[in-house]
Amino acid sequence: MLKKMISQLLVKILVRKSKIIEKHVIANRFVFLKIKMPKKVTWIPGDKVQIVVGAKDLRSYTPYTFDLDQKTFSTLIYNHGNGPGALWANSVATSARTEVFGPRRSFVDQDDDHMYLFFGDETSMGLAYALRLRLYHAYFEVNNEKLSTLALHYLTLTPFSLFERRDNLRHINSIVEQMTLLLSTNRHQHFLIILSGHKWSADYLEAALLEIFHRLEITNARIIKKHYWGHKDQQKIQTMSEQMNQETTAIIS
Ligand SMILES: Cc1cc2nc3c(=O)[nH]c(=O)nc-3n(C[C@H](O)[C@H](O)[C@H](O)COP(=O)(O)OP(=O)(O)OC[C@H]3O[C@@H](n4cnc5c(N)ncnc54)[C@H](O)[C@@H]3O)c2cc1C
Repeated sequence: MLKKMISQLLVKILVRKSKIIEKHVIANRFVFLKIKMPKKVTWIPGDKVQIVVGAKDLRSYTPYTFDLDQKTFSTLIYNHGNGPGALWANSVATSARTEVFGPRRSFVDQDDDHMYLFFGDETSMGLAYALRLRLYHAYFEVNNEKLSTLALHYLTLTPFSLFERRDNLRHINSIVEQMTLLLSTNRHQHFLIILSGHKWSADYLEAALLEIFHRLEITNARIIKKHYWGHKDQQKIQTMSEQMNQETTAIIS
C-alpha cells in the first residue's frame, strides 16, 4: 500500500504533462514528433526521455534536438509494428496530450579530444543526429535502405552508410571492413566508436572490431556500447526483418 502510494507520488512529481505539436510520418515507419513540455528543462545531446505510451507502458526515446527556450523537443520513433510504443507513435494525433519523464542522462561523453564513429539502426538515428557536431561517420544496419535514406535526409544527417540486415549478421562484417580502413588511414585522429541500436549486432561488432584492432595494432579508437533494444530469439529477428523489408518495399514503390 505504502509502496503504491510512494510510486504514485513519484509519478505525480516527475511526470511532465506535454503535448504533441507536430507529427511527420515516412511510409508508416518513421514517426517524427515534436513535443511541447510545460516548463523549461536542462538537456544534453544523448539524453533520453520516457514517454507514457499506454495505460501502464513507458518507453525510452531520444530527443534528437531540443529547443530549451520554446520548451520543445523532437524525437524520431521507428515504428516496427508490434509493441505499445510503435502502436502509440503510429496512432497519436497532433495536439494529443502526453506524459513525459525526463530528460534523463543516457549517453554521456566526458572527453572532447575525439570524433565519433557511430553504429546503430533505425532506433538510434536520433541519437546520431543529437551527436552530429562530433560525428565523423555513421553506419546503420537497417531493414530497408531506401526508406532509411528518406528518414536520414529528413533529419539532414550526413555522412552515413547504410547496410541492409542479412542472415547471421553478415552485413556487420562489411561495417567492420569499412571502419578498419577508416581507422588505419586516420591513425593521427582519436575516435570514440559508439555502438548502439540492437544488442546482438552491437555485441557482434564489438567482438569483431576488438579482434581486428589487436591484429592490426589499431590504437586510435575506444568503444562504448549503448543498447537500445534486443531480441531473445535471433531467428525471429531475421524473419521479421525480411518480412518488414518486403512490406516496406511494397509501401514505397
Ligand atoms: C536510452 C534509449 C533511447 C531510445 N531511443 C529511441 C528512439 O529515439 N527511437 C526509437 O525508435 N527507439 C528508441 N529506443 C528503443 C525503444 O525504446 C525500443 O525499441 C522499445 O522496445 C520500443 O517499444 P515498443 O513498445 O514499440 O516495443 P516493445 O513492446 O518494447 O517490444 C515488442 C517486441 O518488439 C521488439 N522490438 C523493439 N524495438 C524494435 C525494433 N526497432 N525493431 C524490431 N523489433 C523491435 C522487442 O524486442 C520485442 O520483441 C531507445 C531505447 C533506449 C534504451
